[in-house]
Amino acid sequence: MTNKPKFTPDVQRRRITQILRGLDKAYPDAECALKHSDSLELLIATILSAQCTDERVNLVTRDLFRKYRTPKDYAVAPSKVLEAEIRSTGFYRNKTRSIQGACRMILDQFDGRVPDTMEKLIQLPGVARKTANVVMGVAYGKAEGIVVDTHVFRVSRRLDLTTAETPEKIELDLMQLIPKQKWIAFSHQMIHHGRKTCKARKPLCHLCTIEKVCRSKDKVMAFPLTNIEPQGRRARTRQ
Ligand code: SF4
Repeated sequence: MTNKPKFTPDVQRRRITQILRGLDKAYPDAECALKHSDSLELLIATILSAQCTDERVNLVTRDLFRKYRTPKDYAVAPSKVLEAEIRSTGFYRNKTRSIQGACRMILDQFDGRVPDTMEKLIQLPGVARKTANVVMGVAYGKAEGIVVDTHVFRVSRRLDLTTAETPEKIELDLMQLIPKQKWIAFSHQMIHHGRKTCKARKPLCHLCTIEKVCRSKDKVMAFPLTNIEPQGRRARTRQ
């Protein structure tokens, strides 16, 4: 069964203009929060960021990036050593396998350089479209798609930009709706919005610059309850 769209195409277009304007206003300089100085560091940091906060990843990579400078450094490192170094980011065995597998493939098949096409990036172990989109957009400035992490997933659905239930389908819906020249900035802005304002449990709707276009059932009142004067007191004051 297909869901009937909530908005006509015209209304949805107007909503998107307002959403993009609101995001620009709230997050004019939004960028990737993972610290890195080149495409290899960004790739490693993005692999480490799965199920982990960017703050934790940045703490771990501060030392990691001093020690490992090339794909070969990661590829030849003893797995147990790398596992211990990234342990606090969680899923450290899988992440070690991904990092070392990706670096070996970069050495063997891509002349030691992190590839700059989506097609090649997603061949690397542990790299799916989300990671590839981050590397393409941030390291190479190429808009190949839209990053759909947990925040973009939730916020897109709350804003009725999609009803899909997988990151892959959500990305396709967003690519249809959002102009291509906005894909990179939109990804960062939506991630920031999800982190700072449109939080999973208690969205801060009274601070939201796109509150007017949001019809989410998760939306909470426009002002925090503490700002509303109790009716009894107001009534007494007026007497
Ligand atoms: S109004 Fe609330 S639920 Fe809607 S996008 Fe803004 S913060 Fe999220």
